[in-house]
Amino acid sequence: MTVTPVVETRGLVKRYDDQLAVAGVDLWVGPGEIYGLVGPNGAGKTTTMKILATLLAPTAGEAFVTGIPVGADPIEVRRRMGYMPDFYGVYDDLRVWEYLDFFARCYEVPARKRPTMISELLEIVGLSDRRDAYVETLSRGMRQRLCLAHTLVHDPALLILDEPASGLDPRARVEMREILKALSGMGKTILVSSHILPELGEMCTGVAIIDHGRVLRSGSIRDIERSLRASALLRIDVLGDPKAADAAAAWLGTNPRVGDVLHVAGSDGVTRIEAAFDGGAAEQASLLHAMVEAGHAVVGFTQATSDLEEIFLKVTGQADGEEQAA
Ligand code: ATP
Repeated sequence: MTVTPVVETRGLVKRYDDQLAVAGVDLWVGPGEIYGLVGPNGAGKTTTMKILATLLAPTAGEAFVTGIPVGADPIEVRRRMGYMPDFYGVYDDLRVWEYLDFFARCYEVPARKRPTMISELLEIVGLSDRRDAYVETLSRGMRQRLCLAHTLVHDPALLILDEPASGLDPRARVEMREILKALSGMGKTILVSSHILPELGEMCTGVAIIDHGRVLRSGSIRDIERSLRASALLRIDVLGDPKAADAAAAWLGTNPRVGDVLHVAGSDGVTRIEAAFDGGAAEQASLLHAMVEAGHAVVGFTQATSDLEEIFLKVTGQADGEEQAA
């Protein structure tokens, strides 16, 4: 059975005069995913999202939402998608419930359904107790959550959220992340942008790292991590005096799967050695076994997980390097 992607773009291009904002972007987002578009300022995230939200026409390429071509049937696409832009105008002289009621009416949600729907949405975004407050009295975090509720009034399958956590304090960011996870649990597919990879890493099923209008890497964070690091980085803690650590490092160096070996730090009679290693879990287990058999006092043996920010810098940095080399 073939799955219809909720978001698909093929060779998407957008040119503003002489500025190439999107330079051939291919995306594929399956049902129920939380998919991140990550890239520095000016990478082309907003432009890509605006095309999917039917607000901009692409210069070339194709975009589909739940299989519907965005250019050919924008009205149907708008029914199936809720878009939260990076800058949202809110209507200050409205109460919270009136604000949602107004947009629900715009989407022709029947009057008898609106009160329950508004209560449910306020519950989801944690604003039930602000129902009768004026929008202008809400904090920035609360406004962002109200805007998120606005994107949900017509019960769309897809949410397109452009930097929903921007300008929020750390606590409000966590709250926003929890809400997105809850929405995903309710079956929504979410396309979300950020210029901070770690912010998305924890909740996203997949990400596309975008820079200069191009997708540099896409897939799960794990896959991206793997593609960047041909070999794993092992952290091995060895007990004993410096000579014992030297001997362990020398022994590691003779293993054909081991690349660079580094002494990192030592404390309390334990020295940490970092070693690049070309092999999976089974090969790592054999290495540990052989190391202990050879008489090295191994007290710690783990594969390092890389920092997401480091991955992001590596990917975008590589692109700059490639461009300079070209
Ligand atoms: P940010 O995180 O800063 O919002 P972004 O990744 O969303 O960045 P876009 O806003 O899509 O990036 O911009 C991509 C490029 O297109 C940038 O170089 C930007 O200056 C340019 N651009 C965007 N909108 C327009 C426009 N209306 N006219 C001309 N150039 C534009």
